[in-house]
Amino acid sequence: MKTSPGAVDFIDDAYLSSLLEGPAPDRETVQDVIAKSLEKEPLTVEETAALLRTEDPGLLEMIFGAARTLKETVYGNRIVLFAPLYVGNDCVNDCVYCGFRRSNPLAVRRTLTPDELRDQVERLEDAGHKRLILVFGEHPKYDAEFIAEQVRTVYGVRKGRGEIRRVNINAAPMDVEGYRTIKAAGIGTYQIFQETYHHGTYRRVHARGSRKGDYAYRLDGLSRALEAGCDDVGIGVLFGLHDWRFEVLGLVAHAVYLRGRYGVGPHTISFPRLRPASGVEPAGMGSIADDDFRRVIATLRLAVPYTGLILTAREPARLRRELLALGVSQIDAGSRIEIGGYTYRDARQVRDREQFELGDTRSLDAVMRELIEDGYLPSFCTACYRLGRTGEHFMEFAVPGFIKRYCTPNALMTLQEYLADYASPGTRAAGEALIRAELERLGPAADRDEIENRLARIRAAGERDLIF
Ligand code: SAM
Ligand code: SF4
Repeated sequence: MKTSPGAVDFIDDAYLSSLLEGPAPDRETVQDVIAKSLEKEPLTVEETAALLRTEDPGLLEMIFGAARTLKETVYGNRIVLFAPLYVGNDCVNDCVYCGFRRSNPLAVRRTLTPDELRDQVERLEDAGHKRLILVFGEHPKYDAEFIAEQVRTVYGVRKGRGEIRRVNINAAPMDVEGYRTIKAAGIGTYQIFQETYHHGTYRRVHARGSRKGDYAYRLDGLSRALEAGCDDVGIGVLFGLHDWRFEVLGLVAHAVYLRGRYGVGPHTISFPRLRPASGVEPAGMGSIADDDFRRVIATLRLAVPYTGLILTAREPARLRRELLALGVSQIDAGSRIEIGGYTYRDARQVRDREQFELGDTRSLDAVMRELIEDGYLPSFCTACYRLGRTGEHFMEFAVPGFIKRYCTPNALMTLQEYLADYASPGTRAAGEALIRAELERLGPAADRDEIENRLARIRAAGERDLIF
């Protein structure tokens, strides 16, 4: 398999482990690191390690407080919403943690037909979704051309006033040509999770000789994507496989590497936690406690202030609600991950049809209502990527003033669309009140009249997709 020219394995296990050893750093060191990230400067791996090594309750409180502040100052109160759409679960790999692994005889194998895919998308549009992530097992039949075809099909589905405006991908790494093919189909972010950055653990959980067993090819996967012009990439770790502190350093090392080599860091970081899956009990595999998980999120928020943090419905509703404040910028909602799960919706999850069990199966409307009542501004905005404000350009724009000028107005537009087309009466009333409060907060902004004018056009004239 071909890696990118000059590809290097930039993860040095011994060095990362050494950063986590020894006595805790002194107070001033930790405070200096916190002060640096409050200036919205990305942290080095060494600085991140200082945050991870402290156990001082006062300093930990400062870290959590700084994470909350950064979330407010970089992202405001917006939370972007999306849904996963599993296309097929055939898989040639044997990852020990996954219900789709080839040696699991219980897994019900399916790949959506084009009609089934369209039906799934129609149901997601009917719920109000505008952003999807397509998820695939790893199999020769899910090659770049196949994935590109699924993306084109999804963009083509229009049900009522519904449309999908951004399709992200979570699939196996490809070669540069493959990434060019899917980029041409108009994908948003390409996500690949390294699962664990620790080489020994990686070997233990991924079968030798399997495609996924090649650590370096996977690590280089997003470099190839960037070289092919896919400038929005997402990294991630499956927490629970190895020491969580080491994994946070791995993620930061990856972000530092991409920034150094391509001038642009990852667009998003995901931090799935191991869940029970068909034939897999996480208890037998490792785990990470809620308190440590809180630290993962807060530390990442400080280390990469401009990178989106994604918290998925693997986590239970109660915990998701609490963790949002620590710096999360995107969540999925109304998710089903059985193949075809949006059509054959059952109150109960069917474990043998899904990759793992979800912790939060509330509807999109229920999640919207809770977000609004908690003072968050739910957003389905897709403007940046559609107007070419992606990758390095997106980083340039992510400066003070940008949120007020683009993000908040676009969040308001897409919320207004949701309220007009899909919301339950209770969510609509709460949402309308939130929009009024947000307009007040914007104050006499230069384009306040234009924002109000467009909101009225959405409400009264049925116009859609009015982006700033
Ligand atoms: N098959 C592709 C791959 O492995 O890169 C696509 C990704 S897989 C369908 C989506 C992600 O789900 C994996 O990268 C992994 O992090 C996560 N995952 C797998 N098993 C899980 C489990 N038992 N609990 C939580 N997340 C899991
Ligand atoms: Fe296949 Fe991905 Fe599951 Fe591994 S994590 S068994 S590659 S679907």
